[in-house]
Formats: sequence, structure tokens, C-alpha cells
Amino acid sequence: MVATNTAAATYPRTFVPKDLALSTFADVEPLYRELLDRPIDSPAALERWLLDFSELSSVVDEVGNRRYIDKSCHTDDAAIEKAYLQFVEEIDPKIKPLYFKLQKKFLDSPHREKLIDPRYTMLARLWRPDVELFRDENVPLQTELTKLANEYDKTCAAMTVNFRGDELTLQQLGRFLEEPDRPTREEAYRLSVGRRMRDCDAIESIFDQMLPIRARIAHNAGQDDFRAYMWKAYKRFDYTPEDCLRFADAIAETVVPLVNELDARRKATMGLAKLRPWDGDVDPKNRPPLRPFKQEQIDLLVDRTKNVFARMSPQLADEFESLRTNGNLDLSSRKGKQPGGYQATLEERREPFIFMNAVGLHGDVETMLHEGGHAFHTIAARGEPLQFLRAAPIEFCEVASMSMEALGADHMDVVYADPADAVRAKRAQFEGVVRILPWIATIDSFQHWLYTHPSHTREQRAAEWMRLRLRFGPSAEHYDFSGFEDWRRRDWQRQLHLFQIPFYYVEYGIAQLGALQLWMKSRENPRQALANYRAALALGGTRPLPELFSAAGIRFDFTEKTLRPLMSAVGEELASLPD
Ligand SMILES: [Zn+2]
Repeated sequence: MVATNTAAATYPRTFVPKDLALSTFADVEPLYRELLDRPIDSPAALERWLLDFSELSSVVDEVGNRRYIDKSCHTDDAAIEKAYLQFVEEIDPKIKPLYFKLQKKFLDSPHREKLIDPRYTMLARLWRPDVELFRDENVPLQTELTKLANEYDKTCAAMTVNFRGDELTLQQLGRFLEEPDRPTREEAYRLSVGRRMRDCDAIESIFDQMLPIRARIAHNAGQDDFRAYMWKAYKRFDYTPEDCLRFADAIAETVVPLVNELDARRKATMGLAKLRPWDGDVDPKNRPPLRPFKQEQIDLLVDRTKNVFARMSPQLADEFESLRTNGNLDLSSRKGKQPGGYQATLEERREPFIFMNAVGLHGDVETMLHEGGHAFHTIAARGEPLQFLRAAPIEFCEVASMSMEALGADHMDVVYADPADAVRAKRAQFEGVVRILPWIATIDSFQHWLYTHPSHTREQRAAEWMRLRLRFGPSAEHYDFSGFEDWRRRDWQRQLHLFQIPFYYVEYGIAQLGALQLWMKSRENPRQALANYRAALALGGTRPLPELFSAAGIRFDFTEKTLRPLMSAVGEELASLPD
């Protein structure tokens, strides 16, 4: 597998040889060495040097992403897997230390201060934490953590159950929680919890091993605790741990009551005295799940999503169509394909690629809108010459994607011929937004506690988790969890972020508030809201978070002041929609 330059004519190579095909580290090593050794004697030379570094980095990045995409599309192809592993194990680890030295070379350059374009100030701000936090002695500790995270993955992947004669993964079993037949749902739920309980202690002990390693990494890097370390590592320049805890308070005040109303309504519609844990995912009127298209009609999914975008703006529809004409879509679920969905950027071409596993469910439409938003971001920001500044901070990347879900929800009649189905789809979107926020607050608050109480016991951990579960719901007024008390005390174990990407979660909440603000703006003036959206996307990562938000015409604020009006608007919208 090689990287050729044929289709990249829009952004021709000027530093990397045109015919360079990256197959081993030796192919690119001289280019990294040249950048390291090149004398830089003026601000202009520093700018040129950055452009060359960016070009090289884009070429390498695209090769890595291509191999990753190929692997996710063909997990059962040994040659493809080998190419991917060769990149991950042989090429990338050799590039990393050189990349780090190049970052340092930029930061240390006496000519940097003379570059007046504020983009360079942004770049220095972005790179400084990488250089400040890096410690050689942390490299093997990171590897240990990766191994433990893999152990967690493997333990979870091995959790299968025999359900009515079929061997199912817990994800497959999860589909039965949408079944109209209540005893079927109960059976599936009980089986799933029973299976998880069997590995509860094993997972707890993986986690027990991770915490001290994380504390040591933070300590080695001169940080007070792992929270302070991750704050820097994630480059959270524009908000503090206290802001996140206040966000959680605001969610308890304004979102939890709304969820309680939704649960009360669900309970009444279903005609139950209490909801049980297997009653939350089914249609409350017992209708079968929405089926927007048949699995083999993938083009229909693309056409309809495109038509939803066309309702918002013809330009979005054209950009979405470009993914199809450029061959940058792999959408249908098939054997040998990795689960899930994502948007990846092909950095040399500066083109988006969308991967997903569509099977004909409403969730596929939501995923398509979401990943479409990420794709618009990639396209809008492609004019930025430096790769390092093309991608926005993740909190804003998710505004780009979640906004398309929120705005798209108003156009579900494009997807569903039956108006009742279109309403159901819209309800699903807004209920989903409301229900995820308390869970975000639970997970985020839990992580703050974990890393600021370093020597806690398992028992204290369970107690704190339970305290948060009771605070953020669901409420015992509507839900009866009896019989599942043991699992409830430890069901944080199913949140893989805690194991794989610690502290990463509040981003979804921050972005969701941005998306909802855009949705509200768009109800007043759709044209203006969309123009702002596009203008902000075009900035890529050249501005700090608050400026990206304000370019989109929304506020970077997640206090009650912003949250309350959003929740009352969403609450009214939901109250106006039939079940
Ligand atoms: Zn996303």
C-alpha cells in the first residue's frame, strides 16, 4: 500500500518528492532529518519550514489514516491488517520522537516572536503543553496503560451470552431492549447484567492497576494530580475543573427535572406503575423500531441525507455529494467490517472520509447527519495551509456534527413518508439530547472524584458512584431498580472512556450546548445561523474555543444562564410533539 500524489493535485507537493511512496520509516526519515538540521535564519525561513513540516506530516497522516480505514473495512484481510500494524508499530513510533523535536525547534526558534500572524501564537499555544508534559520515563508507563486498556477491551468483547439458542455479544443483545414484547426485554436485560456481573471483579482490578500508574505519570510530569495533567494534555485552555463541576450543578438543576417529566410521560403512555430498567429503550406505544430504508438500499440513505442537507443549504448538499463522487464513503454493514462509525480526514488531499455500519435503522440516519457535520468541517477548513491548525478543538468539532443532527431533526419528513414516523424521529433526537446530559454529568463528576481521591477503596468508589447516580437520576419515583443493586453500584464499568480516554467526556456536553444554541438561532433565522456555522467551521483550529463559538453566533458558556433557556425550549418542543 503506497501513498501516491495523483489525486492530490489541488494541493501539490513542494517539499516531499512527488513520487515518494511511504512504505517504511526509511522512506521519510531523511525528510524529518532535513527539517531538524535545516538552519533557520529568518522569520520567512521559519514560515517556509513550517509549511514543509506540515506537508510531510499530512502525507504521513494520510497514509496512516488510509491504512486504518482499510483495516476497519476489511478486518478479515491479513495483508491489510499487516500494513496497518506496520504503520502503528514500526513507522509511527519512530516518527513520534522526531515530531516532538520539530515542535520544540519551532518553540525554541528566536524568529518565532517575529511572526506577527496570530495563527503562529495559536500554534505555540497548542504545542507548548506537548513539550512541557513530555517525559521519557512516562513512555513505558503509557504502554502499560495501553495494555491494561486492551485487557479491558478483550474482557468486554468476550462477554457473550446464549440468548434463545444464539450466541450474542452484549451489543447484539442490546437490540432486544427495543422489542415491543416486555418479557423478551426483561430476559435480555437480566441476561446482560448477569453476564457483566461475572467479570465485575476482573474489571475492577484492571482499573485498580490503572489509577496508580496514571498518578505516577502526572507526578513525573510535575503536575499535582492526574486531573491537572489531563487538563494540560487535552489543552483545555479555556475552562477549568470548577467550570465543569458547575456545569454538573446546572444539569442537576435544569435537566434532571426535564428527564423526570419525560419518564413520567413514558410511564403514563406505557400504562405502568413503575418503569423497570428494560422499559427505557422501547417505543412507549409499542411500535416496532423505525426502518428508514432497507439494508441493501444504501444509496437511499445517502440520497435522503443529502436532501436533508439541501433543505438547509444547497452548498451543504453539494459538499456531501462530493464524498460520494470522490469515493470517500463506506457505509453498509457487512461481515468483516469493524463496528461503529467515524469521519476520518485524508490530510494530503484535505478530503473527508465517512465510515459506518448502516443496517437500515433510524440511528443510521443520525450517524450520517453527525458524520456529515464533521465532513463539512474538514471541507470548510481545507484552505488553512498548516495541517496543525486545520482541526478545531474537539469541543467545537462536535458542535459541527451535533448541529447537523439538531437542525436535521426538523426535516425528518424528507426521510420518512409517514408524518408519524417523522415526528418519532424528531422526538428521538431531542429526548436523546436531554437524556445524555445527566449521564455526562455523572461520568464527568465521577472522574473528578477518582483523581482527586487517589487512595480511595473500592467500597468508597462504589459509594461515590451511587451518590452521583442518585443525584443525576433516573429517579426512583419513576424507576424500580430492585434486584439490580449490586450492578448499579458498579455500572460505571461499562463506560469505556474511563479505561481508554480518561477525563474525556464533558466535551460532548459542552458541544451539545453549542449545537442547541445553533438550533435555537436557526429557528429565528435559518439562513443566518447556517452562514455563521459555516464561517466558524472555516476557521479550523486557528482561534481559541470561545472565538470559534462566537464566530458561530453562539456563546462558549455552560452555566445555568445558557442551559436553562435551552432546556425550556427543548422541553416545549418535546411537549408539543405526540409520542
Ligand atoms: Zn463526532
